[in-house]
Amino acid sequence: MNSSSINLTLANDGCGVLTIDLGSIAENYRRLSAEVSPATAAAVVKADAYGLGAVPVSQRLYQEGCRSFFVAHFLEAVQLRPSLPQDASIYVLNGLQPGHEERAAILDIVPLLNGMEQVMAWARAAVSQGRRLKAALQVDSGMSRLGLSGEEIAGLLAEPAIMAGIDLSLLVSHLACADEPENPANAEQLEALHEVSKRFPDLPISFANSGGVFLGGAFHGSLARPGIALYGGAPHAGGENPMRPVVRLHIPVIQTRTVPAGARVGYGGRLVADRTMRLATLAAGYADGIPRSLGDRGAVYFGGQRLPIAGRVSMDSMTVDISDLPEGTLTLGMLVEVIGDNQTLEVIADDADTISYEILTRLGRRYQRRYI
Ligand SMILES: *Cc1c(COP(=O)(O)O)cnc(C)c1O
Repeated sequence: MNSSSINLTLANDGCGVLTIDLGSIAENYRRLSAEVSPATAAAVVKADAYGLGAVPVSQRLYQEGCRSFFVAHFLEAVQLRPSLPQDASIYVLNGLQPGHEERAAILDIVPLLNGMEQVMAWARAAVSQGRRLKAALQVDSGMSRLGLSGEEIAGLLAEPAIMAGIDLSLLVSHLACADEPENPANAEQLEALHEVSKRFPDLPISFANSGGVFLGGAFHGSLARPGIALYGGAPHAGGENPMRPVVRLHIPVIQTRTVPAGARVGYGGRLVADRTMRLATLAAGYADGIPRSLGDRGAVYFGGQRLPIAGRVSMDSMTVDISDLPEGTLTLGMLVEVIGDNQTLEVIADDADTISYEILTRLGRRYQRRYI
């Protein structure tokens, strides 16, 4: 066996090859940083960096100069902490569950304070630790998800003793419609945040997610929090995507066959061949994050040729129509493209009636992951 065939065998070790281009993530970080300058850009690496690997992604971005990282859950912060130098701040977007405060303080993890209970618990932790503890305060500027209301902020300011032990480093809020630049809700949220920020004159603001970065300087505050744009997703729905693609997904053929007109294809026999069809069965299914909603709707690519998904997506495999390819072109073990040069993340998300975020965060664990 020569070395190239060994490599090919290794490439097919998993049920497909997921290629993650860390260089492109770094390039996207530089673009976002330039866009928000003189503000700086953090990195949102929640949900294992949108499925792409929080540790390698965060370490690459640290090299690029990023010093602020946001995860969703305390446990994600605990897992990431040892992989980053001490001068990197790790923020927990969801804040802390009761009982996690002492560990968070000891590990130097910075919670968002999203409600009065979290404020009070963090203030108590500061007393028991005997030092001031860093935190970010989230205000709800119009999403009704997390963050203190204007009234709660006023109540808090009326009792300065509560905040005495808390070293506030950021005023945070989150945009609900940042992917729609024309939506008037964006300016309304900005206005609501400015009202609150007047009461914290020197506190840096963090407001913009990926979409917010491209809404203009008024939205940038001091620290932007992009996630999806780092990973190549479009910051705004529709229109040009200014980001560099990061993810490619290729899955191998596990069988090709010719079926006569009248043959039923896949679960439920929903597709019935209306002619002689040539089919290829591929090695990934919905357990690998190929949305089941792509049945009879989506496609994969080979050699620039679109190959429509035929019938339902199974758990571990799916079938595509290869009738338009010259016979013998696609054979056992060859790889077809699910995400790549021919089919962007946005296209597959649209076909599946979802968003790029969901496609990325559901990418399966059975692929061979290749970082470049
Ligand atoms: C997920 C999230 C982000 C990142 O959003 P993108 O749209 O992926 O850029 C920023 N801030 C908060 C509070 C989030 O939940």
